Amino acid sequence: MEAYDVLIVGGGPIGIACGLEAKKKGLTYLIVEKGPIVNSLFNYPINMQFFSSSEKLEIAEIPFISKEAKPKRNEALEYYRRIVTSNQLNIHLFERVQGIEKNDDHFIVTSEKTRYQAKNVIVATGFYDLPNKIEVPGEDLPKVSHYYKDPHFYASQKLAVIGASNSAIDAALECWRKGAEVSLIIRGPEVGQRVKYWVRPDIINRINEGSIKAYYNSVVKEIRQHEIVVDTPEGEVVIENDFVLALTGYKPNFRFLQKIGIELSEDEKKLPVYDPETMETNVAGLYLAGVICGGMETHKWFIENSRIHADMIIASILEKQESKVPS
Ligand SMILES: Cc1cc2nc3c(=O)[nH]c(=O)nc-3n(C[C@H](O)[C@H](O)[C@H](O)COP(=O)(O)OP(=O)(O)OC[C@H]3O[C@@H](n4cnc5c(N)ncnc54)[C@H](O)[C@@H]3O)c2cc1C
Repeated sequence: MEAYDVLIVGGGPIGIACGLEAKKKGLTYLIVEKGPIVNSLFNYPINMQFFSSSEKLEIAEIPFISKEAKPKRNEALEYYRRIVTSNQLNIHLFERVQGIEKNDDHFIVTSEKTRYQAKNVIVATGFYDLPNKIEVPGEDLPKVSHYYKDPHFYASQKLAVIGASNSAIDAALECWRKGAEVSLIIRGPEVGQRVKYWVRPDIINRINEGSIKAYYNSVVKEIRQHEIVVDTPEGEVVIENDFVLALTGYKPNFRFLQKIGIELSEDEKKLPVYDPETMETNVAGLYLAGVICGGMETHKWFIENSRIHADMIIASILEKQESKVPS
């Protein structure tokens, strides 16, 4: 079994950027992705529009042309898919990586299909797989989802949306516009300050006019088959309910990071240890790229500001290779 110069775990925008850069620099590489190309983006809401303009989502300076300044999900799927296919990137899809072990100077990467050897490994697995649970009775009922896809599903239904950030607000507005009766349960005193600047006034106006009922400083205590119980400053409220969208954010797979030897900060941020100059972790040859670097601070990194990780990591790998070549 020949060792790749670099094996990349995760075929999201940043994993793809790493593969492209490795190819450009003549390294042998493989991207292993557990789903389709850009799996997280594929699973985003069907009508989702990025907050970034398309040029900020470009990788390897390949132009991203979109109809409006801020592209839609389907345009991003098109863009990243075309990059993979037209550059004939070496990518294995629908193959989950289960383990990474260091063996002397190389890594053994075990997937559900086979084992690979690599001199370096980049973990670019994002944070979209694990939702932050609200941990209340009834959360496991089939009517509860932590992912929102299509507003049509909720037309003429009583829908509770839990959360106050972009995902929750987009879902509340879209579903209300398609005829859902929406209750918005917000833990804090207001709609999140990071909600897109052109969307925030829209939701506030819908709440003020009474179209969407918001419960501020409130938490869901229990989810039942036909109702939810909410703790509000005015006391407990029972609301009739058909569906719940608990859009309270997502988190990286910390168990996986620890299993492969990456240290995390001990505070609630759980920041992985890495050198910010090279993105190399405390395990020599094991790198982190993309939004996974932020630990619980999942708003810190996005495509816009993490696409540079690809260049930093490949430069570090090349530098190490060159320093090993006898002069
Ligand atoms: C609704 C929403 C809107 C956003 N809008 C923007 C925006 O406008 N601008 C912006 O810059 N950012 C935005 N972001 C953030 C950014 O798009 C994503 O976080 C982006 O996908 C990050 O890229 P990534 O490659 O680091 O991670 P991801 O795209 O999450 O890619 C990680 C990949 O790793 C795969 N994977 C995970 N575990 C394994 C495993 N064990 N084995 C193999 N593969 C695995 C996953 O299937 C996934 O494809 C948004 C995020 C969300 C949720």
